[in-house]
Amino acid sequence: MEDSLLKCNFCGRKKNEIHFLISGISGHICNYCIEKTYSIIHKKFSEKNIDNNKYESIEIKKPREIKSFLDKYVIGQNEAKKIISVAVYNHYKRISQKEKEKEKNEQHTEIEKSNILLIGKTGTGKTLLAKSISKLLKVPFAIADATTLTEAGYVGEDVESILTRLLQSVNYDIRSAEKGIIFLDEIDKISRKSNNPSITRDVSGEGVQQALLKILEGSVINVPPQGGRKHPDQKMIQINTENILFIAGGTFDGIEKIISDRIEKISIGFLTKERKKNNREKNYHYLKNILAIDLKKFGLIPEIIGRFPIITNLNPLDKNMLKQILIEPKNALIKQYKKLFDMDKVSINITDEALDIIVDKTFQLGLGARGLRTFCEKIFLDYMFDIENIKNVLNVDKNIVMKKLSNY
Ligand code: ADP
Repeated sequence: MEDSLLKCNFCGRKKNEIHFLISGISGHICNYCIEKTYSIIHKKFSEKNIDNNKYESIEIKKPREIKSFLDKYVIGQNEAKKIISVAVYNHYKRISQKEKEKEKNEQHTEIEKSNILLIGKTGTGKTLLAKSISKLLKVPFAIADATTLTEAGYVGEDVESILTRLLQSVNYDIRSAEKGIIFLDEIDKISRKSNNPSITRDVSGEGVQQALLKILEGSVINVPPQGGRKHPDQKMIQINTENILFIAGGTFDGIEKIISDRIEKISIGFLTKERKKNNREKNYHYLKNILAIDLKKFGLIPEIIGRFPIITNLNPLDKNMLKQILIEPKNALIKQYKKLFDMDKVSINITDEALDIIVDKTFQLGLGARGLRTFCEKIFLDYMFDIENIKNVLNVDKNIVMKKLSNY
């Protein structure tokens, strides 16, 4: 066919009316139609994406499945893992039940939300547990720090800003965020500053707890899209927290004393003096006996405690666990360093004795597993800096580690 007679088979425009034509087997399409169809396809895809949103249908895993996933990332903490697995399973079961009832327009027994409170020393895996859960379920996840929060109107962040984090993590996709998990770290730092009601307002303690209540219990909250402080002309995003799972973590320094005093008070006459002494001497793990009443004495208001029906504790890490953490989990530190060096075609050989020294030093530091990374960095930094001068193998033995960590 003569070139000037060619036309778009979609809109009928002639070749001289358009910029270009693309030829197919038995027809042609012009640049205008390509653009138009592209935007239609794009629109269809995004509509479909909303319906099949990756967070939309959460596959509910059975508690055992959740626990065995956690086992791959978190060493020890079996009791906590078990409790969390059941709580998370029930949480998402509750959501699906509610959705089914909504579809059928019927209402049965209301299953209460199972927010979780994790208590344990720093670096024992609280954040890691929460993060791993979100990884398994592929739900939106955000970490918020309770220490930055203050009661509305005071210097600091409004409590609603913890929801901003979650919204930002899913690019403001409200429906996804409404099924996410928020890890609220350092919840013990917002405990009531004094047990006696005082004249001065406790804006970073009890004031924050009061403000948090509404978010935790599940209601529609006005969230500032950029976080920080709410101001009058800012447009708010409404988010329903009914199905958001809150996992709070805290070290609750000093709570052991509260627990031990309570236990001893109850057991006067039951425990022999000898056993009491033994308990104290053996560094008895009092946290495993924690009750809501201890949290109240520590300074959490009863309403907040009531919003966390599941309370569990994490064990302090012993040397054995620290060593396992160093080498066993899926993303264990030593595995990470091996991979980094591997990318430069260097393989690391680190002896067992060398690992033991890292573990000993970490244990003495008392920051849980957190110290492992600090010491590994000290050991590997110079080698990483000089990577081009290492030929194929890097041997790290006891002497090297002792020298590198001699100041600690
Ligand atoms: P925290 O209890 O203070 O929230 P994290 O969960 O942030 O502690 O842990 C700090 C670091 O130590 C993380 O890198 C984490 O991977 C590691 N870690 C802590 N506890 C464990 C554990 N039980 N198993 C595996 N890694 C752990």
